[in-house]
Amino acid sequence: DAPVTIRTLSEALGVKANDILRKLMNMGQMATINANLDDDLAAELALEFGMELQVIHERTAEDDFLEAFAPPVESENLLPRPPVITILGHVDHGKTSLLDRIRKSKVVQSESGGITQHIGAYQVEYNDKPITFVDTPGHEAFTAMRARGANVTDIVVLVVAADDGVMPQTVEAIAHAKAANVPIVVALNKIDLPNVDTTTNISKIYGELAQQGLNPVEWGGDVEVVKTSTVTGAGLTDLLATLETIAELHELKADPTRPATGTCLEASLSEGRGVLATVLVREGTLRVGDIVVCGDGFGRIRALFDDHGRSIEQAGPSFPVEISGLDVVPTAGENFAVTDDIARAREVAETRRVRARDASQAERQTVTLENLYNRM
Ligand code: GDP
Ligand code: MG
Repeated sequence: DAPVTIRTLSEALGVKANDILRKLMNMGQMATINANLDDDLAAELALEFGMELQVIHERTAEDDFLEAFAPPVESENLLPRPPVITILGHVDHGKTSLLDRIRKSKVVQSESGGITQHIGAYQVEYNDKPITFVDTPGHEAFTAMRARGANVTDIVVLVVAADDGVMPQTVEAIAHAKAANVPIVVALNKIDLPNVDTTTNISKIYGELAQQGLNPVEWGGDVEVVKTSTVTGAGLTDLLATLETIAELHELKADPTRPATGTCLEASLSEGRGVLATVLVREGTLRVGDIVVCGDGFGRIRALFDDHGRSIEQAGPSFPVEISGLDVVPTAGENFAVTDDIARAREVAETRRVRARDASQAERQTVTLENLYNRM
């Protein structure tokens, strides 16, 4: 769906680009030959040359591709999928400790020795059901992903330290979660600290939470507050149980039978292994050999690795997985989709590269009727 430029308009009308530029200048607008024109202005310019113009945008490979991101139709193939959890909160309130502690205590106890996290997301099992934790490094990443249309999170765990209470970044995190329209569970953390007086401190924090619109269940509201300690491990099982309950309440579902779509969480270039991207599968099942477009990268998946670095053959909805085989490093927050046509995948990726290059050209400008009239 490429926009009309002065150049393409000139070709379509059989009029010299310079004549169009002169017309625009008479209208009070300086532009370059590569400037984008909105459809209305292009039609108006055509009229100036005594021609009637109707702009028809051809479907591109990218249009087809983007259709893969359309929400799934109600189908018999929908099955429950694991919830995807993001932990947010004020600095030093215990986000990293909580992620680590949950991983250490709950990831495959059968595995001997220490657990090493290979990718920025992992799964734990609770009641034999997986829960996915995404390690977004902070509020910016959370917001940046949302800005790119990637709402990967189903539930936000808001960590609030019991000795500190609601702080500026707590308020920010609440705003982000509300904007994303995801339920919030509060982890009232550091409950082990000796100076946390259970009556005054905690009711003070409940008051602060209620003031932010998060009325605790204990106070008759609807926000679950779980008291946790990453030092003693207290409350961690309760937290997982609460997350499971909320996930069930929301009936999170996906269709594992369709071609996979999802989001890139992080990506890098590895010497020897090429481009590695950690992606979260949202719909469908991703398999070795699939042709993937992710951001402006594309390729055939050479290998899939789970959160323990083990090579796997496929990954279903809500599974975080590392993929290799893309030709360029995609940006975190970019969506990916699987297609059965490598030529189309290349076309989409290359179209995006060209567009990114064009967009970064400073003199690139969009001329619209509106900003034209504003100048006059
Ligand atoms: P983050 O900035 O939110 O990721 O916080 P961290 O996980 O890095 O924790 C900040 C500090 O608080 C570290 O020194 C942790 O050891 C400490 N901490 C985290 N959780 C607890 C807890 O439950 N109890 C106590 N006493 N200290 C904690
Ligand atoms: Mg941290």
